[in-house]
Amino acid sequence: MAPLVSTDPVTGAELARFDIADPEVVAAAVTAARAAGQWWDQLGFRHRRARLLAWRSLLTRRLTELAELVSAETGKPRAEAVVEVAAAIGDLDWAARHARRVLRPRRVRRVLPVAEAAAHLAYRPYGVVGVIGPWNYPVLTPMSSIGYALAAGNAVVHKPSELTPAVGQWLADSFAEVVPEQPVFSVVHGPGEVGAALCRSGVDKVSFTGSTATARQVMAACAERLVPVVLEAGGKDAMLVAADADLAAAAEACVWGAFTNAGRTCVGIERVYVAAEVYPQFLDEVVARARRLVVGGPDRDLGPVLVPAQVEVIRAQIADALARGATAVLGGVDAVEPPYVRPTVLVDVPPDATVLRQETFGPVLVVTPVSDMDEAVRLANDSRYGLGGAVWGRRRAAVALARRLRVGMVAVNDALSFAGMSSLPWGGVGDSGIGRLRGDHGLREFAQPVSLVVRQVRSPLPSRTFDRTDRDVRRIVAFYRFRYGRRPGRRGG
Ligand code: NDP
Repeated sequence: MAPLVSTDPVTGAELARFDIADPEVVAAAVTAARAAGQWWDQLGFRHRRARLLAWRSLLTRRLTELAELVSAETGKPRAEAVVEVAAAIGDLDWAARHARRVLRPRRVRRVLPVAEAAAHLAYRPYGVVGVIGPWNYPVLTPMSSIGYALAAGNAVVHKPSELTPAVGQWLADSFAEVVPEQPVFSVVHGPGEVGAALCRSGVDKVSFTGSTATARQVMAACAERLVPVVLEAGGKDAMLVAADADLAAAAEACVWGAFTNAGRTCVGIERVYVAAEVYPQFLDEVVARARRLVVGGPDRDLGPVLVPAQVEVIRAQIADALARGATAVLGGVDAVEPPYVRPTVLVDVPPDATVLRQETFGPVLVVTPVSDMDEAVRLANDSRYGLGGAVWGRRRAAVALARRLRVGMVAVNDALSFAGMSSLPWGGVGDSGIGRLRGDHGLREFAQPVSLVVRQVRSPLPSRTFDRTDRDVRRIVAFYRFRYGRRPGRRGG
C-alpha cells in the first residue's frame, strides 16, 4: 500500500511519511493496547498521575517544537499553534490531577427500603478507547480525549486525521518516552477507512471529533457492536450583543472568535445578533478590525484553508447568500483565493441562506440586527447545531441570556473562553454531538460506574426472598404507604 505522505499545505513539501494501517494492523494495535491497558489500570491513580504529569512537563519543555510541527502540518500561524498546545497541556494537567477525586471508590447514601446494606460506587476503565481526531486542532481536540481516557485508566489507540499524522505520531512518541514499558498510547495512520476500521476493531469505546456527517458514520459503525461513543461534531455558534455591551471589546472578541485559525474552529463565531440600536457602530468596529487581518504564512493572522473541498463550500455559501440579496461589507466571493480565504463579513443575509443554516468552517461572519434580545435568543437557537455561543452585555442580564441558549457551552463577555477551561465539560447538543469531554464529566465519560451493595444486617423488609410471609408483604405495603404515599408538602417533600 502507498504510504501516507504528510505535506506542507502551502508549498506541498513533504514533511513525513507513514505506513497506512490495514484492518489487521488496527486490530493488532488494539490487542496490544488491551494488555497494556490492564497494566496501566493496575498502576493505580497515584502512579498514573505521576506519569501523566511527567508527560505534561515534557510537552511543556517542547511546546515550541510541537507548535512548529502543528504550524507546518496545518498552515496555522505559529502563535495560534502555541495557544493550542498550551491549552492541551492544561487539559492533560487537569485530568491527571483530578482523576482520583472523580473516579475513586466511594460510599454513597443508602436508601431506606434497602437500609440493611451499604452502597458503594466505583469506576472501572473501559479498556481500550479509540480516539479519532480532526486536523484543525490536532493536539487540543484529541488531548481532551486522550488525557482524560488515560487518567481514567484506559489505553488509547489514536487515529489522527490523514492531514496531520506527524502531530499524532509526535504525541504518541513523546508519551512513550515517559511510559516506555507498554504501548499504552499508540497511533494508527491512514484515511477515513482506518477510522472506520478502528470503530470495528474491538475497541471498548470510541471518542470522535470531526464533522457531523462523519459522526453519523462513526455512530453507525459502532452500533454494530454496541460500542459506546462520545461524538464532538460541528457547530454554527452565535454571539449575542446587547445594547449595553462594551462594543469595542465585543467587536475585538467577535473578530478573534470568527477568524481565529482562519475560521476552521468548531466553536468559531459564525453568526452575530446585535441589538439594532448599536448595530451600525458594532458593524463598523468589526469590519475595521477584520480588514486589518492578513492571510499568509506562519507569521500572519490567517493561514490557508487546508482542504480544497472546504474552500468550495465557503465560496458556495458566500455566493448563495449574495444571490439571496445579502451584501458583503468585507471580502466576498473574491476573497476566496485558494489556499487562502480573506475575512468576509456579510449583512442582510436571509435566514434560509446556507451560510446561516450549515457550518461554514471558514473566515465568514454574518452580522444581523435584532429588535430585542428575545429575538436574538430565538434566532440563535434556530439551528440544528448547538455547540457553543457567546453573550455580550451587562453581566447579570447576559448570564440570564446565556442560560437560554440551546448549546453546551457559552462565554459571557468573552468568546471561546470555555476552550481553556479544562475543569468544565466540553460538548454540544443536536447536530453538534453526544456526550462530554473534559471536567468531571469528561473523566466519567471514560469510565463505567460499578455499583456495589454490601449487606450488613438482616433486612427489616424481607422482599428479596421466597421465605417472605404474608405479614412481611403487609409490612412492605405499610412502609411504602408511610414513606411515599403522603401528598407532597409545600416544599415538594
Ligand atoms: P472529518 O469528519 O472529515 O474527520 C474527522 C476524523 O474522522 C478524521 O480523522 C477522519 O479521517 C476520520 N474519518 C473520516 N471518515 C471516517 C469514517 N467513516 N469512520 C471513522 N473515521 C472517519 O472532520 P475534519 O477533520 O474535517 O474536521 C473538521 C470538523 O470537525 C468540523 O466540522 C469541526 O466543526 C469539527 N470539530 C469539532 C470539534 C468539537 O469539539 N465539537 C472540535 C474540532 C473540530 P481523515 O481526516 O483521514 O479523512
